[in-house]
Amino acid sequence: MLKKQNLFGLPREKLSKFFMNLNEKKFRTKQIMQWLYHQSASNFDDMHNLPKDLRKKLQTIATIDLPKVVSLNQSSDGVIKWIIDLGKQSHIETVYIPERDRGTLCISSQIGCALACTFCSTGAQGFNRNLQSHEIIVQVIIAQNHLKSIEKRISNVVFMGMGEPLLNESSVYDACDLLLDDWAFGLSRRKVTVSSAGIVPAIYRMSEITPVSLAISLHAPNNNLRDILVPINQKYPIKELMKACHHYLNAGTQERHILFEYVMLDRVNDLPEHAKTLAKLLNGISAKVNLIPFNPFPKTQYQTSKKDTIEHFQDILFKSGIRTTTRRTRGDDVDAACGQLVGRVLDKTRRNAGRN
Ligand code: SAH
Repeated sequence: MLKKQNLFGLPREKLSKFFMNLNEKKFRTKQIMQWLYHQSASNFDDMHNLPKDLRKKLQTIATIDLPKVVSLNQSSDGVIKWIIDLGKQSHIETVYIPERDRGTLCISSQIGCALACTFCSTGAQGFNRNLQSHEIIVQVIIAQNHLKSIEKRISNVVFMGMGEPLLNESSVYDACDLLLDDWAFGLSRRKVTVSSAGIVPAIYRMSEITPVSLAISLHAPNNNLRDILVPINQKYPIKELMKACHHYLNAGTQERHILFEYVMLDRVNDLPEHAKTLAKLLNGISAKVNLIPFNPFPKTQYQTSKKDTIEHFQDILFKSGIRTTTRRTRGDDVDAACGQLVGRVLDKTRRNAGRN
């Protein structure tokens, strides 16, 4: 039997092609997208402005089924974590972080991660496979459906869940397309952020393909240290990475910025000299630094930097004219904080497969 086409995750153009192949009128694309993304339709029968024949046909060749939610946990600070079953005993995690002026959804792009950053528990789990674009988009749908019922909304989406988005480019770009499209989620390009550990060739491609925001997981200001913390640095060292960042900033027609993420590890990368080198590295770049207090997980060799150390580090960056914020740890009582997302990755042998 032919595999049914999942309609979630098909950007406008691909959905149009799908309807053209069915000899359907172009305007069906807009109708279906509105049902999927604005009306939360859960089956084709609900789509009463489509002809009956078409609804029947769609039932046989397409699907809009959502995957099963294994659990939904809300932490004491309002953070919500979904564990979603993607079959074959693979799970991914999606996290909603409410703040006073916004609601950020943190989504996964892969099952597991191939990069093995030493301070990240997702990395320690190994890599299974890339998500398809519909598996990325259904995370937003599932969250949106629940949030509507508690009168909350998603204002920002960040690819900071499980996985390295720039090792799953085509699905991530299709998902970004839908996140920006008014017929789907209609978010502005500033409110969608792809976070990467620094896959240099992909940063060049991303610069041209999508206007969304870029965050770079830097975590160390020199290669010796970054080679250890973020091993992909051995392949794409800091100088190459910064060149790619400059390219991103100069591409596109609108002004761009980069958010540099920096996890604070006690006495590893949090010394004043690290802050000074970091300030030099980012000098003159349209950048903001986000310091992330390390979130511990079982068997980790690292500890969180002391509060004073983080403040001092931030101060050095401030004094060098670099905009710096410190991320508040949220959702840690339901293991939803950065780097605590592990899902379940059965096949851990494929680490190198996702890395090429
Ligand atoms: N692979 C992508 C996105 C996933 S990680 C990337 O590397 O950017 C999202 C952010 O959480 C990254 O900045 C990552 O370095 C950070 N992170 C991972 N583990 C963490 C931990 N244990 N404590 C705090 N931040 C962590």
